[in-house]
Amino acid sequence: MSLPLRHPVNDAGLGLTGQRARDRLIQRLASDGGIADRRVLDTLRTVPRHLFVDEAIASRAYENVALPIGNGQTISQPLIVARMTELVLEHPAPNKVLEIGTGSGYQAAVLAALVPQVYTVERLEPLLRRARRLFRQLGIGNIRSRHDDGRLGWPDQAPFDVVVVTAAAMTIEPAWLEQLAEGGMLISPVGQAGGAQRLRRIRKLDGEAAEEDLGGVSFVPILPGVG
Ligand code: SAH
Repeated sequence: MSLPLRHPVNDAGLGLTGQRARDRLIQRLASDGGIADRRVLDTLRTVPRHLFVDEAIASRAYENVALPIGNGQTISQPLIVARMTELVLEHPAPNKVLEIGTGSGYQAAVLAALVPQVYTVERLEPLLRRARRLFRQLGIGNIRSRHDDGRLGWPDQAPFDVVVVTAAAMTIEPAWLEQLAEGGMLISPVGQAGGAQRLRRIRKLDGEAAEEDLGGVSFVPILPGVG
């Protein structure tokens, strides 16, 4: 008789990265987190978050916490990813979405399951390389990524239906608003790292920008330049 092989990548049943752990997280996002959009919950159930963090902490991937991904950065808390994704899907036709701050690639992978075209920009090359490798491994073909200062957006690919910023900005960059399509929306945390940050949504309607406050959040900061 041969011993069963441990295969964390295909851990579909028991175990801390298995289906039960994922189902528990999804239940919590719905009951305590107030996430109501079925499409978002189903996507978070399927995208393997444990592959987007270091193997050493993979067992914590289905806890509702932010986790380190190296280079002083973090993968956002599942509830925040769910919330940002719900907001993106409030756009009536989010065909082309730009994410600032690829990080682990997890938020981009979640978006890629729900919208046709995802563009993502990251300033730290090692993180971007890892994220790209994962997109390939997972067979995700609708993400285009770029190593650049995301404060500039991605001018060559504009306009975007939604721009979603996954690091806290001190101010909203003019480029992000300029690169929005008519009817488009920008979702961005604004405020100091470690301080009071607010999640803001700005819609571009008839050339005018309308801004809403969506509550307090906590993100790592937008930093200048590339690394
Ligand atoms: N969306 C990510 C969250 C990553 S944390 C995920 O799902 O894992 C925020 C990321 O924004 C970090 O990787 C950080 O390096 C990146 N970042 C910070 N300033 C940036 C900038 N000016 N341009 C592009 N990326 C930036």
